[in-house]
Amino acid sequence: MNLGLKNRVSLVTAASKGIGLGIAKVLAEEGSKVVISSRNMDELEKARKLISSDTGNSDILPVVCDLTVRDQVEHLAHVAMDHFDKVDILAYNTGPPKPGTFSELNIEDWDYAVNLLLMSAVWLTKKLVPHMVERRWGRLIYVTSLTLRSPITNLVLSNTVRLSIAGLAKSLALELAGNGVTSNGILQGHILTDRATQLLMDRSRRTGKTPEDLMREQLKDVPAGRYGKPEEIGYLSAFLASDKAAYINGTMINVDGGLIKSIF
Ligand code: NAD
Repeated sequence: MNLGLKNRVSLVTAASKGIGLGIAKVLAEEGSKVVISSRNMDELEKARKLISSDTGNSDILPVVCDLTVRDQVEHLAHVAMDHFDKVDILAYNTGPPKPGTFSELNIEDWDYAVNLLLMSAVWLTKKLVPHMVERRWGRLIYVTSLTLRSPITNLVLSNTVRLSIAGLAKSLALELAGNGVTSNGILQGHILTDRATQLLMDRSRRTGKTPEDLMREQLKDVPAGRYGKPEEIGYLSAFLASDKAAYINGTMINVDGGLIKSIF
């Protein structure tokens, strides 16, 4: 299937590693020009080289942006639109929030998480949407977490703050549908990234269990019997970004190997 992304410009946030990098790679493979951002230019430069060498696409622009800082987020939107004249596709992904239970987290942790997981989406969307509406074409894709459907005990910030992204994505879908702009979300399950490996190593140190045993435990609940790959979030993002997905609007889609058991 030709997804027709060749003349499109995508902006992928938190894209130097893991899920964001997987999304950026697939969008680049499909021929889209891609702006990638994260906090560190050395890491971004590594990601740019990897994407270009793996896909043969040299239209990759790295831009430093800490998602918790409003000026940097707005600067990212301006640089992206200046460089490629437009941004058609926002694939919004974030860094992970601090883990912890309600009792362990302090008010500063909440403030940081609200900026990281919610306000960054608002700042970025606010800058990009008027141009999408003007061109009567746009794709908003919010990559969140399975915690929206199934909260995890020690991820209270993710369980709570990320839920508001579902409200944002749906509100935008209702508001913008007549303008050729769609808005959807992705709820990913266990994806094997550096971060996921670090969390396993950390739990291994705390529990005395081997990382292999912990992996087996985690996968017991996943009918597919394996971890997802970052590119598998990319494949759905690329489809949602295409004209073929013009009638998919306002949905939150699980990519979790069957982990979430609820029907709706
Ligand atoms: P990762 O650590 O592999 O990659 C995170 C990326 O975010 C990196 O590029 C990092 O530089 C960037 N980043 C971190 N803080 C940032 C900030 N303040 N501003 C801008 N960029 C920042 O993580 P991942 O596993 O790819 O996870 C990506 C997101 O998906 C996270 O929010 C994570 O909580 C969520 N998630 C991951 C999984 C999983 O199994 N990996 C499952 C559900 C949800």
